Amino acid sequence: MQRVVVLGGGESGAGAAVLAKVKGFDVFLSDNGKIKDEMKELLRKYEIPFEEGGHTHELILNANEVIKSPGIPENVPLVVALKERGIGIISEIEFAGRYDSAKKICITGSNGKTTTTSLIYFMLKNAGLNVGLAGNIGQSYAYQVATEKYDYYVLELSSFQLDGMYDFKADIAILMNITPDHLDRYDFNMQNYINSKFRITRNMNEEDCFVFCADDPVTVTELEKIVLKAQMLPFSQEREVAEGACIKDDRMCVTYNKDEYVMYLRELALEGKHNVYNSMAAAITAKAINISNKLIRESLMSFKGVEHRMEKVLKIKDALYINDSKATNVNSSWYALESMKTPVVWIAGGKDKGNDYEPLYELVKDKVHTLICMGIDNKKLHDCFADKVDVIVDALSAKEAVELAYKYAKPGDTVLLSPACASFDLFKSYEDRGRQFKAAVREL
Ligand code: ADP
Repeated sequence: MQRVVVLGGGESGAGAAVLAKVKGFDVFLSDNGKIKDEMKELLRKYEIPFEEGGHTHELILNANEVIKSPGIPENVPLVVALKERGIGIISEIEFAGRYDSAKKICITGSNGKTTTTSLIYFMLKNAGLNVGLAGNIGQSYAYQVATEKYDYYVLELSSFQLDGMYDFKADIAILMNITPDHLDRYDFNMQNYINSKFRITRNMNEEDCFVFCADDPVTVTELEKIVLKAQMLPFSQEREVAEGACIKDDRMCVTYNKDEYVMYLRELALEGKHNVYNSMAAAITAKAINISNKLIRESLMSFKGVEHRMEKVLKIKDALYINDSKATNVNSSWYALESMKTPVVWIAGGKDKGNDYEPLYELVKDKVHTLICMGIDNKKLHDCFADKVDVIVDALSAKEAVELAYKYAKPGDTVLLSPACASFDLFKSYEDRGRQFKAAVREL
């Protein structure tokens, strides 16, 4: 019997173990840390042996194949030992893809993945299609492949997941953009990160579609260097395109196979320039799978957005509080600030991943009058922005930040939590940060 070892007992690992078990493998799961109770219960239910709090090499190095959680870096000793022995290491997505005949719509990029994935899923559901949602979002893909039968999957893929993918093929691949992120996992080499993102196009052929942002210089430069067989469907806010999506006056125009879909930008439910990109990518995809213009329109007009992404919380004393806690890098905060139409009280900061704040300088000078630095070490924010805003103050909790924002906000302002940083100095996760922010706003 072939032995499959799963490294990592989170959502994706436990799901992969279940699928491997269902497919008749000898399965073992190993996690260096603690496994959550609900995952342990699942493993027991499927009679899958597991260990936690460390890896027993003898139980792992005898595997025929290893499914590695995307969170485990390539350079840890166990992974190195597996590679030395020539044991194949794949991701949960690669494994599950082998057993899934559904049409796969896959989304990657540095920013906008979850929003675009959720929007496409929403559209396909509205169109009455039998569709699953998975990848870097929600329930494990492998678990769903083991227990459900869908005609379509919408899969959000991070670069770490893509790194473990070889034979997997997307029917529609969407690359939102590529800006520096996670470079610590790519030897601080941007090309390695670009190569990782482009793995989404592997194995695609003429019937498949590649949807990409023609305004993204990194993507465009890379496309000049490689040959793709897939049908190319660009989206752009800067120039016209024959096939794909572009802007004409105040309308978004989508063309696919000479069939056109047009809609006013002001009708889009999601606001901001970045969301025009996300809406374009979703609309092209919908056209490519033959969803009617009427349904595309209804979905783009009614999609409510995703929690922690430019999420409107409350208006208090005529100031609107927005939770954009998911903005964990400079590029995403750039789009948040860019979309602001009022004066802004900006709450930023946290764990800096080597940020270069310069791209934000002009926007901050134009729009932000008060900067609330919410982090343990705020020195860099002070150094970069003290001369660009009227007021700059520090806060050590979401509650303190919100109370300060309330003090400085004037009627008509927007209070924007868009940190441009990771959350781990003061919070458990960006979700925790967003929820604490919303709770504090509701308490005002
Ligand atoms: P991801 O899943 O790639 O992290 P999300 O959809 O969760 O992306 O959005 C994260 C943040 O990035 C949002 O808070 C928003 O400010 C910003 N953002 C969303 N879409 C885009 C885009 N297309 N380009 C740049 N920034 C974006």
